Amino acid sequence: MGSMGGMGKTPPRGRLFVLAGPSGVGKGTLRQSISDIGGLEYSVSCTTRAPRDGERDGVDYRFVTREDFLDKVRRGLFLEYAVVHGEYYGTLRGDVERNTAAGKDVLLEIDVQGASSVHATKPDSVLIFVMPPSMDVLGQRLRRRGTDSEQSIATRLENAKKEVQHAAEYDHVIVNNVLEDASKELREVILSYRREK
Ligand code: 5GP
Repeated sequence: MGSMGGMGKTPPRGRLFVLAGPSGVGKGTLRQSISDIGGLEYSVSCTTRAPRDGERDGVDYRFVTREDFLDKVRRGLFLEYAVVHGEYYGTLRGDVERNTAAGKDVLLEIDVQGASSVHATKPDSVLIFVMPPSMDVLGQRLRRRGTDSEQSIATRLENAKKEVQHAAEYDHVIVNNVLEDASKELREVILSYRREK
C-alpha cells in the first residue's frame, strides 16, 4: 500500500494496451466486446475519413477536417498518427496521458504502423495483434462489411499480407476465428496484467 512513489495520493500509472491488426479482422467488434471491463478507457481517435452510417462523432471517432488534423500534428498533439488507406488517423496524447496518470488502463485500436510508433515511444505498452484465420476469411469479411469497393478490398488484402508478418513482434497474438473465443482471450490478456500489479 502506498509504496509506489511515496506520495500516498498518486495512484500507480495505468497501462497502455494496443490492439492492432489488418483492416477487416474484427478489431472494432472485439474492442466493443470488452467495453464492460472497468477502469479500461478506450481512446477515441481523430480521423479525416467520413463517418459511416451509425457512427457517432466523439464516440467512434472524432471526425475532423484535414486542416484541423494537420494543425494538431504541427502542435505535437498526437502520440502517433498514420495515413491508412489515404486518410489520416491519430491518437491524441492528452487523452492517453490523462487516463494513465489517473491510474486507468487505456486501450487503443489502431493500425499496424501506429502500433509500431506507440511501441517506440512507449516501450512498456502491451501490443496485441489480431490475426485473421486466413486471408480468404479476411477477404470474405471485408466483402460482407459492404463498405469498400473491390479495388479497396484488394488493397486492404495486399496490406494485410505485409501486416501479418509483423505479428511476431507483438506481446500477444489472438486469432479471431470465433468472436466469443477471441473476446475471451483478449479479456484474459488484459486481466492477467492487472493480476501482475
Ligand atoms: P476504419 O476506417 O476502418 O475505421 O479504420 C481503418 C484503420 O485505421 C483500422 O485498421 C483502424 O484500426 C485504424 N485506426 C483507427 N484509429 C487509428 C489511430 O488513431 N491511429 C492509427 N495509426 N490507426 C488507426
